[in-house]
Amino acid sequence: MGGPEIERLIGLLAKLPGLGPRSARRAALKMLQQPETRMLPLAAAMVEAARAVKPCGRCGNLDSHDPCFICTDPHRDRTIVCVVETVGDLWALERASVHRGLYHVLGGTLSALGGIGPQDLNFSALTARVAEGGIDEIILALGATVDGATTMHWLSERLKPLGVSVTRVGQGMPIGGALEVLDDGTLAAALRSRRPS
Ligand SMILES: [Zn+2]
Repeated sequence: MGGPEIERLIGLLAKLPGLGPRSARRAALKMLQQPETRMLPLAAAMVEAARAVKPCGRCGNLDSHDPCFICTDPHRDRTIVCVVETVGDLWALERASVHRGLYHVLGGTLSALGGIGPQDLNFSALTARVAEGGIDEIILALGATVDGATTMHWLSERLKPLGVSVTRVGQGMPIGGALEVLDDGTLAAALRSRRPS
């Protein structure tokens, strides 16, 4: 259809979540028709973000500062840490403004089938944070899947002996997890109705 530059652009865009080949072509065309106002600013923003953004060494969130803006925010409740699977889940909770404490991104769940063990998750950093002191409650906000439930059980068995209260989010979590797909009201209700784990 176009030259190799256009085909390559469409091919890369089509790999993005939510964009198939058809919408990738539309996005590429839109950009190519306005290179100065759409394409070059986007390209510059992408290069800048790729260079500057890194996982936070404390919580695993993505930010251009390490520790991230949440870990260093003096207005947040540092006694409560919410454990989530992915940065997408953290962003969903932040967008809904339902959690005023800190976070910890686990990076997945334990999975016997997927061959994911504790060493593959961001778990030792969590116990290190608890051992530093100052944390009273750990909220487990993992998805309501078999792996999510297994992981919450595993975490709670290891965190409770460290002297923190461990809770898990209540009803309303979707089967299959993914906090990202929940609306703000459901997220708030799930967090409010947390119970001891
Ligand atoms: Zn952080």
